[in-house]
Amino acid sequence: MPGMSRSELLASVLADEAIFVETVRSLVEIESPSHDRQAADHLADALAALLERDGWRVERDARNEVGDVVIGRLEGDDPGDGTLILAHYDTVWPVGTLAEMPWSVDGDVARGPGVLDMKAGIAAAVHAVRAASAAGSLRGPVTLLVSSDEETGSLHSRARIEAEALRHARVLVVEPGRDDGAIKVGRKGVGDMTVRFVGRSAHAGLNPEQGASALRELARFLLAAEALADATKGTTVNVTVASGGSAGNVIAETATARLDLRFATTDEGRRVLDALRAYRPHDDRVRVEMAGGSNRPPMEPTPGNEALLAEARTHADALGLALAEAVVGGGSDGNFTSALGVPTLDGLGAVGGGPHARSEHVRVRETLRRTALLASLLMGSAPGETSLTTES
Ligand SMILES: [Zn+2]
Repeated sequence: MPGMSRSELLASVLADEAIFVETVRSLVEIESPSHDRQAADHLADALAALLERDGWRVERDARNEVGDVVIGRLEGDDPGDGTLILAHYDTVWPVGTLAEMPWSVDGDVARGPGVLDMKAGIAAAVHAVRAASAAGSLRGPVTLLVSSDEETGSLHSRARIEAEALRHARVLVVEPGRDDGAIKVGRKGVGDMTVRFVGRSAHAGLNPEQGASALRELARFLLAAEALADATKGTTVNVTVASGGSAGNVIAETATARLDLRFATTDEGRRVLDALRAYRPHDDRVRVEMAGGSNRPPMEPTPGNEALLAEARTHADALGLALAEAVVGGGSDGNFTSALGVPTLDGLGAVGGGPHARSEHVRVRETLRRTALLASLLMGSAPGETSLTTES
């Protein structure tokens, strides 16, 4: 359908609702938790088959501990700068969740484990590319990279994501938008640390003075660590898990804490990590061991990201869609690509609510409108251009 206007594009995407819902169902009904390689690879198989049916050239990048990274490539109808669409197929839900939280569609609302984060986002990417191709104007080559360990920090896929990003002019991330549908123009950087104190055990009744309590040091550390937070800068430091000691009448020899760190700027991330690493126990008989650190840099509003956002606004206007923007605390793989300087826009995937919660759901028609926006961004002609339908 050459010469398709933006309103025709929107109408054609909305008309495919039943097919879209079926694509989402096919992905949700294969459970794919990050840590279950075997289960995840079943989804990789289904995804590869789906892409191949649509004419994508599919590569699978096998990983040792998690599912294969699935990469699809399509040539564009026009020469142009390449677009990388980033997605992940792993979910936070273990195998068996589907039995308690089955796939369902009730009116406009679809539910099921991982439906919002982000199986409907994968479906949106597939359908958007299909719509842009059907309009005969896919601009430049498109690569779709679907990773398998985003929910656990992307340790096994980060290098591949970064290498692919550097081969493309822009990155569109199909993570869900915020609950109100806002796209994500800023994301905090994320850190994760495990801190272990090792002291000396002793009988709590007979000779407590000979013990050096790892738990007491953990308690002091907890308050000192959390005091590094700075709400005015959006920096948070939270001890989220702690344990220690071995028995009710023994001075604790060991204690362990896990910390969740979030920071809006690279400088803030460095300040907090430096301070934590410089921390020394009060009791010099207690030793501290630290592991971890920053696992995602912040996504900051770079000029490239701002320009891409402005472009998305033009497309949204042409489609008659409202487009809100937000800065959020959760990180995604877009943080990596943005930190490399590749223009990145995040939150272009499904619209719904309850990510990582029992209430996880997708609003189908809003998601389809977002799919049309994604298709429009992938099309060759600018949305303002009046396309001439030729008789030939
Ligand atoms: Zn996600």
